[in-house]
Amino acid sequence: MALSLRHVVDQLFSEVRLAKEEHGHLTDEILSALHFVFHQPLLHALDLIDRKNITKLTTPSGRVLYQVVGSSNTLYTCLISGDYCTCPSYTFTVLVKMESLMCKHLLAVHLAEALGECKNQTITNEDFVAHMCYDSVVDNNRNDEHL
Ligand SMILES: [Zn+2]
Repeated sequence: MALSLRHVVDQLFSEVRLAKEEHGHLTDEILSALHFVFHQPLLHALDLIDRKNITKLTTPSGRVLYQVVGSSNTLYTCLISGDYCTCPSYTFTVLVKMESLMCKHLLAVHLAEALGECKNQTITNEDFVAHMCYDSVVDNNRNDEHL
């Protein structure tokens, strides 16, 4: 069931890309289909895109990660291949409770990528590793100090 929903979602993202190419924007049809699947997070995701809050970071060797500035100005790191976001909502709603397919940040990344609305930035391989590992390590250390 989850697999087939994921298939539908991927199909929708391709349609977003096509609509952008053909019409220059999302059609009402696609918007209502997206809303049917994602509900409220879709509006938040579109808002993040309007605010140009999504940055695509690419290394010279072609590794890609995305950074999303969340509603409270917190920076989240997202991966589009394999779907991952560092926000608490992704951990609880998607991974633990399995209530939804993706958080608003990850949805925003998928849509921004399909719409060509990402800001592009090049980073070094070292920076990539730091983004992938260091953020959470730093947070854990900070938490330990307060225990
Ligand atoms: Zn998230």
